[in-house]
Parts: sequence; structure tokens; C-alpha cells
Amino acid sequence: MRIIDNFIGGQHQASTSTRLGDVFDPATGKVQAQVRLSDPSELDAAVANAQAAQPAWAAMNPQRRARVMFNLKALIESHMDELAEMLSAEHGKVHSDSKGDIQRGLDVVEFACGIPHLLKGEYTEGAGPGIDVYSMRQPIGIAAGITPFNFPAMIPMWMFAPAIACGNAFILKPSERNPSVPVRLAELAMEAGLPAGILNVVHGDKQVVDAILDNPAIRAVSFVGSSDIAQYVYGRGASNGKRMQCMGGAKNHGIVMPDADLDQAVADILGAAYGSAGERCMALPVVVPVGEATAVALRAKLETGIAGLRVGVPSDPDAHYGPVVSSAHKARIENYIQMAVDEGSELVIDGRGFALQGYEEGFFLAPTLLDHVKPDMKSYNEEIFGPVLQMVRAETFEEALSYPTRHQYGNGVAIFTRNGDYARKFCGNVEVGMVGINVPIPVPVSYHSFGGWKRSGFGDMNQYGMDGVRFYTRVKTITQRWPSGGAVMDQSFVIPTMS
Ligand code: NAD
Repeated sequence: MRIIDNFIGGQHQASTSTRLGDVFDPATGKVQAQVRLSDPSELDAAVANAQAAQPAWAAMNPQRRARVMFNLKALIESHMDELAEMLSAEHGKVHSDSKGDIQRGLDVVEFACGIPHLLKGEYTEGAGPGIDVYSMRQPIGIAAGITPFNFPAMIPMWMFAPAIACGNAFILKPSERNPSVPVRLAELAMEAGLPAGILNVVHGDKQVVDAILDNPAIRAVSFVGSSDIAQYVYGRGASNGKRMQCMGGAKNHGIVMPDADLDQAVADILGAAYGSAGERCMALPVVVPVGEATAVALRAKLETGIAGLRVGVPSDPDAHYGPVVSSAHKARIENYIQMAVDEGSELVIDGRGFALQGYEEGFFLAPTLLDHVKPDMKSYNEEIFGPVLQMVRAETFEEALSYPTRHQYGNGVAIFTRNGDYARKFCGNVEVGMVGINVPIPVPVSYHSFGGWKRSGFGDMNQYGMDGVRFYTRVKTITQRWPSGGAVMDQSFVIPTMS
């Protein structure tokens, strides 16, 4: 059995831990490798390597650090196919979607290539008599990232690209379900010229996460995963005095107004609800048609669209999506479908019981469509994270607006309309962090930043963009005066003012 080891100090490190986690091939349902579940002493080794390497890396001028990012960008591009295959083999998403996963992370590496410009401070000449004030951004030292299974390339890059470009060392604890791509990215970073010890990968589960949260040398932790864990990680890390940004789960709504371009909206909703088997935090698992006529027309078009969807193995170029990540997750999704039925939803299309010929043990689910879902149902209030689309009917725009606004999650939302006035009111009032207007998956580009509201995000800084730079740096502000000699200035016992 292939064992996936840690990557510490620029090399693979056989773990001392005897605990192992199974890494499945979701298409066949078979265990294809095992990952070491590290113990806290291995985190200590990563921290020691990071501490030894970080001062020299921080002292290197930002232009030279940027050149490493340029090299890394080129290397990831030239290894795109290899990375996508590796990603699909452990996650299950189709190859084209794996390339999208890698590309959205690569966009952040590209943003980090501009780090010399992004790190420039501010300067005020003559803030007082003979006094200048300036600020500079300095790296925080060592940061860590804890990432989920559903974007094994993009989310690690959201974190480590700005962190290391800012002059920090980084310790990545990837999802134990698909650990290979993060290790490969760290290898490529070494090839790109990153010094050993600046990017370390330590595999594991709660044990090593707790060790990260309690280690005083780690000054900032970025987390992406489900909300209960995000809240726990946020609380424990923050109480230990760390900077924390913790992104959680989601239940994103797509509002369909009566004037929407229905064919376009249906095409967008199908891709956003079922792409990657619904295992995206920016998926669109709830659709809210406004008015009876919209609901009837939308449902008919969705049914036709779903009938044309193809579930297949990741290498099938015609497949719209592949298997879900594990048999446990498949069972969890099936339970939610049953719960929705028991709660009184109408099961329009049932995706359970689907088997792909030749891959009968794979974790496949066909698309499910539920109608007449109500806001007091548990199956509506919780995140299902599978190929399941729930329709919640609304009579008015105001009612439709209230659903994503009142929901416990506030990650993404979309409105489909041709009416600018409604779109504008919607954006201004909806309590959700990322809004799409006729855009089903409004993941912001790398030079803006990503973050949800309510139980979708704990902490106060978003991922990547300028927030990424802010999160991984500390501002130091200097007030300076160069006396011109001569008489001693007046002594003052009053708080200094610039008057
Ligand atoms: P998860 O919460 O199970 O795991 C995330 C990370 O936390 C993993 O590295 C895991 O090892 C670790 N972990 C798990 N249990 C832990 C515990 N008890 N204590 C400490 N650490 C623990 O999430 P997942 O299933 O890998 O990913 C899917 C979830 O991530 C979904 O809820 C999805 O919405 C969310 N997600 C959110 C965003 C976002 O930006 N908001 C992006 C992607 C995924």
C-alpha cells in the first residue's frame, strides 16, 4: 500500500505515527493509498524547520520572493494535467473541473507575483513640525492552514501563496481524504526556488489540528471546512492569541425573478447545483422561483435539463460530474434526501440507487430535485453538500430576499433577473458575503477577496486579495523626527499633538 508522508524541511519525512487514514478512489470505492495521521511531535519538527528558515526568507527582498512565485506559476501550468489527474483520483471530480480547481488557486499565485507592490507601506511627510510618519508591513513569522477535501489545490494556494510571498513560513494541514496534490504543490514550490522549511505539509486529523492551535510559534491560522469545526478552531486559536480566519459551510440560494432569462438561468443553476457533485461551498443547492408561473416553468425546464445530465468517472470527457468523496458522505446525502421527503418535500427526481456500470462500488449519486421545500425544514436549514437541488417557492421578491437573509449560512447567493432595480435592492439588503447578479457562482477573482457572513465565516478577514496580504502581515507605524540641532525643544507633559 502506498503511504503518503509529510513534507517537512524540503523533503518527504517518514512519519513516526502509527495511525493511518485510508485514501479512497471514489470512482471505484477502493482504498488506493494511506496517509499518515501525524502526532504533535511531527508538527514540532515542521515548526522548528519553519523557524530556522523564515528569517532569511523574510530578509530577502520582495522582488526576489516574487520571482519564486513566477517560477511556481509556470511550473504549475506545465504540470496542470498531472495535477488534475492526481486531484480527480482522490476527489472524484471530473478532469476539466480539477483543472478549474487548480486554476483558481493559480490565480492567487499570480496575484502574489505582485507582492513588491502590494507590500508597499504608507508615508506622510510633515505630519507635524519636522515629523514624518510611515508604516510598513512585516511578516507575522509562521502561519498555518487547515483545508477541506473539496478544493485540494485551490484552497491551499489561497493560503500559502500570499503567506509565503509576504515573507512567512507556512505549515499546511490538508484534508486527510485527498492529501497528494498539496504535497506535489510543495515539491513544485521547492523546484521553483523556495527555500526548504518555508512550505511544509503535515498530514493528520484533530490531533495535529489541536497541536497547531496550541503551538505558540504559529501566529496565524487560516481554516476552511464545515461550520462547527470552523467555530471550534476559531475559538481555540483565538483564545491562544492567534490571528484566525475560519471559513465554514454554506447553503447558497438562487433567486429566479419572473423576468429572468429562464433558459440561461436553468443552464447556470444546473451547473452550479450539480457540478462537482454539489460538493462546493459556492454550489447553488437552493433555487427560489418568484411567483407561481415562474415556479412551474422553471421546474419543467429543470426536469428536462436534469434528464440530460451524465454522471461518470472523472476521466469521462462527457460526464458532467463524478462520484462524491466517500461512502459515508454518500450515505449522509441519502439520509438528507429521505429527511426532506419525511418533512413533506416533494421528491421530483430521486438520485438514490444509481449505479454506474463497471463501477458499482463507486460513490455515485444521480441528481436529485426536491420541490415545495419549506424554510422550517431541517433538510433546508442544514448543508447537504451533494447533488441535491431544493426548490423553495416564494410569492414576492421580498419573501425571496428573506430566505438567504434569514438562513444560518451566508456564503454566496445569486439573483437571476433583467431588472436592475430589483438586483440593486437585492445586493444592498441580502445578508450574504458574495452576491452574483446573473452569475451563479460568484467566487471573487484573486485580486478581490473571498468570505461569507454569519455561520459561513468566523474572524474578520477574507481569504486572498488585499485581505490575504493584511492577514499574513503586521503593520508597524513609525513616527520620526530628526532634530536639526541647536536648542532643546520644549519639554512637554501633555500627550503629544501635532498642533
Ligand atoms: P471538515 O470540517 O470535515 O474538515 C476540514 C478540515 O478540518 C480538515 O483538514 C479536517 O482534517 C479538519 N477537521 C475535521 N474534524 C476536525 C475536528 N474535530 N477538529 C479539528 N479539525 C478537524 O470539512 P470537509 O468535509 O473537508 O469540507 C467540506 C466543508 O467545507 C463543507 O461544509 C463546505 O461548505 C466547507 N467549505 C467552505 C468553504 C468556504 O470558503 N466557506 C470552502 C470550501 C469548503
